[in-house]
Amino acid sequence: MNTFELLFFMIPRLPASKCIISICVCYLFILNCYSQLSESMHSIPNDNEWIRENDALHPCITDDEYQTIQKNCNANAFSLELQTTVTPGSVLLNWPLQAAQALHDCSYYYISAYVDQNVATGAIQDFNCGTNTYDSHRGTDISTWPYNFYKMDNNLVLVIAAATGTIVDKHDGEFDKNCATNSMMANYLVIQHDDGSRALYWHMKKNSLTTKAIGQAVLAGEVLGIVGSSGNASGPHLHFEVWSGSTVATRIDPFSGSCNSLNQKSWWANQKTYTETAIIKASVNTTDLVLPPCPATEIPNESSVFQIPFQGSGLPAGYAKFYIFIRNEKTGLNADMSIINPDGSNFLTWTYSSPSDNKTRIQGWSKKLPTAAGKYIFKSVYNGMTCSTPFEMVNPTNSNNTDLNSLCRIYPNPSNGKFVLETEQTGVFEIYTLFGARLFQTEIHNHKSEFNLPIPNGLFYYHLIQNNKLVRSGKLHIK
Ligand SMILES: [Zn+2]
Repeated sequence: MNTFELLFFMIPRLPASKCIISICVCYLFILNCYSQLSESMHSIPNDNEWIRENDALHPCITDDEYQTIQKNCNANAFSLELQTTVTPGSVLLNWPLQAAQALHDCSYYYISAYVDQNVATGAIQDFNCGTNTYDSHRGTDISTWPYNFYKMDNNLVLVIAAATGTIVDKHDGEFDKNCATNSMMANYLVIQHDDGSRALYWHMKKNSLTTKAIGQAVLAGEVLGIVGSSGNASGPHLHFEVWSGSTVATRIDPFSGSCNSLNQKSWWANQKTYTETAIIKASVNTTDLVLPPCPATEIPNESSVFQIPFQGSGLPAGYAKFYIFIRNEKTGLNADMSIINPDGSNFLTWTYSSPSDNKTRIQGWSKKLPTAAGKYIFKSVYNGMTCSTPFEMVNPTNSNNTDLNSLCRIYPNPSNGKFVLETEQTGVFEIYTLFGARLFQTEIHNHKSEFNLPIPNGLFYYHLIQNNKLVRSGKLHIK
């Protein structure tokens, strides 16, 4: 591991008293950069500066807020004449989050805290007899990851109804980029199910909530809003809480396990495994990813198209950065990475061995890119599961008016920003800068779409995504 680069990355976050060390490290980094850069790594195990979680002193929902919700829900349920005969547990819950169509990652979350099963003050235990919870936590915190503010800004993770029911409380319009405890209310929804049980969806993005009003019905799977960081939140996550009845005291834990003392059986239609250890994202980057302090939006610096010869910022000529994002890393497990040639053979392989247990780990390497034009795959295998991402090497002379094949055509190209896109299938159309920053994204509903975009002059890349897969990419020349 390249310690110098890791330390360099952390310098802006060191307190003033360590500035002399910082300067030394910086100097050492400069001394070493030329010898280390060609195979340099970038390693970020879970770190509280980036992985932000609520705790006992900073609960997701305060006691006063619980009283308000309970009062509102009961008053609304009464006036709506909703069923009061409770037969809890007859409704099965689906996972309350869903990746948006534009998100191509292998997964998008980790569990930052389960329900606390230990009622004693100062003691914690989750349903599985582990400690992934905080004192008195009554819900399941599902954190979006990686790039949780980026995901929020771009509406990449949807909150969906876990079960069919009726909206019995709703609140929107609150600030949604909190990083610490505050006195603000969250943007939230409460749904009462057919069996009288209730589900709370907490911390949502401002003005993202369904336009449906209190009293209206929602179906299981219906979009309720976007994951945010409103109310008492230390970063974007969904606090999902289930009551079997009409008061907070009736809370249950939807996960069944030997240390769940609230309810015996699982309330999930398909209960997920406790840790879900996996690589949930693999990416090819034009340079290091950037994780600024909360609540600034992260800068992924990813791309799926690299022009030959490629020069990334801070990288040797012809190199890119290859990243894996591990959820619930386990000591001793190996991750096997490969860059696969267009003909299916390996261009390059390497292995990473997990040195410690971590809820999250970002691991990146600078590796030499292929020099022949074509479509490649960056593949990673961890804990028996594969997570891959395609990327393409393109020749600079390839620019022409038609695309790589007849499935997708853009004309004129070059254009002044006014062009026509013809595709055989519908999907999502995106435009990126050469450095991987997304400038534009829209869903394509027609086989022929006309655009007139205020894009500055220059060379860009477009992506056409269908069913969460990149199916076409190419150059877009604006002049
Ligand atoms: Zn919570």
